[in-house]
Amino acid sequence: MHNYKLLTPGPLTTSRTVKEEMLYDRCTWDDDYKGITQKIRIQLLELAGVSQQDYSVVLMQGSGTFAVESVMTSAVSDEDKVLIVTNGAYGERIVKIAHYIGLNYREYRAAYNEYPNEDEIKEILEEDQAITHLVMVHCETTTGILNPMEMISRLSKEYDKTLIIDAMSSFGGIDINIPELGIDYLISSANKCIQGVPGFGFVIAKRDKLAACEGNARSLSLDLFDQWKEMDKDGKWRFTSPTHVVAAFSKAIDELLAEGRIPARHHRYQNNNQILRDRLERIGIHTYITAEKQSPIITTFLFPSEQFCFEDFYLYVKERGFVLYPGKLTDVDTFRIGNIGEIYEEDIEALCNIIEEYLEGCQHA
Ligand SMILES: *Cc1c(COP(=O)(O)O)cnc(C)c1O
Repeated sequence: MHNYKLLTPGPLTTSRTVKEEMLYDRCTWDDDYKGITQKIRIQLLELAGVSQQDYSVVLMQGSGTFAVESVMTSAVSDEDKVLIVTNGAYGERIVKIAHYIGLNYREYRAAYNEYPNEDEIKEILEEDQAITHLVMVHCETTTGILNPMEMISRLSKEYDKTLIIDAMSSFGGIDINIPELGIDYLISSANKCIQGVPGFGFVIAKRDKLAACEGNARSLSLDLFDQWKEMDKDGKWRFTSPTHVVAAFSKAIDELLAEGRIPARHHRYQNNNQILRDRLERIGIHTYITAEKQSPIITTFLFPSEQFCFEDFYLYVKERGFVLYPGKLTDVDTFRIGNIGEIYEEDIEALCNIIEEYLEGCQHA
C-alpha cells in the first residue's frame, strides 16, 4: 500500500508524534490515564475560551455523529421542540437523528450554496412558540460553506432559545467565541481540526444546561448527563474508553498549543485554502461556494469539463501521494478537497502541480 496524505476532512493526516502515542497500552482506571482525560477536558475549555465555572466538557465514545446524537437525546426533553437549520447533509443528519429519537422537531432548510435566511427563521420563531432549541452546523462539510454564527446567536438570544452548534469540522481551526455567542452546546470530535485520530467526540456545554438534562436520554450509552457525572468525578469514562485515541488526542492538543493555538492553525488552514482555490481557479476549476461564504476547511470544486472523470483523476492524484474526496451534491458534478490536518503550503503546491499536470495530459490526449 502506498503511503499518501489525506485531503479529507477527517480522518485526516496526523503527525508521526501523535501516532506514536498509540504505541503504549494504558489502563482505563489507573490515575495516569484518568489524569490524561482530565487534562484534555481542561485544555478544551481553555481553547474554547470559556470558564470552568460556567462550562464543562464531556467526551463521548464513537465518531462525531455519536456525540451529536448524545446531545440531541439528552438536551431535548419530551416537553421541548427543536428547530433544525439545514443547508447540507450534516444538518440533514441531525434531522434524521431527531426523527429516530422521536423528538418534537421542525426543519428549516436553505439551499446548499446559501446562508439560512434570518427573516425566515425569525418568522418561524414568531409563529411557533413551542420551539425551545435551535441547532445549526457551523462549517457544513458537505459543501464547505461557513454558516453565519452571529445570526443564529442573535436569534437564540432574542427569542431565548437553547443553542446547539455542530462545530465538528471547525472547532480548533476557526476561533469561535462561545461565551459571547451564547452557545449552550458545542460539538466536535477528535479527528478534525485538533488533528487527532478517530474514536471519540466531545461536547463543550454550559453547566446549568447539562445539569438540567438528567433523565432525558432515550439511550443508555449516549446519555450525556450520566457520562458527564461519571467523568466529572475523577476522569473515569463510563464503559471502555478509546485509550489509544485519547492519548493521541492529548498529544494533538499539545501540538496545537505549540503551533500557536487556534489563531495560528487558522492562519495555516486559511493559507492552504487560499493557495488551493487561487491555483485551481487559474486552470479553470471553479468553486461551488462563493469566496465570502467559503470556509478555510474544505472546498467543493465543480468538474472542469463534461469529459472530466473523477475516478481517473482520483487515481492519478492518489498514485502521486494525495487522497481527495468525492462530491456529495446530487444536482451538480463536484469533488472536494480538504486542507486541514498535518498539511502545509508545500503539500498544497505539490498537489496543485499534480492537478495541473493531469489536466494538461487530458488536453493532449
Ligand atoms: C465529520 C462531521 C460530523 C461527524 O461525522 P462522523 O462521520 O460521525 O465523524 C458531523 N458534522 C460535521 C459538520 C462533520 O464535518
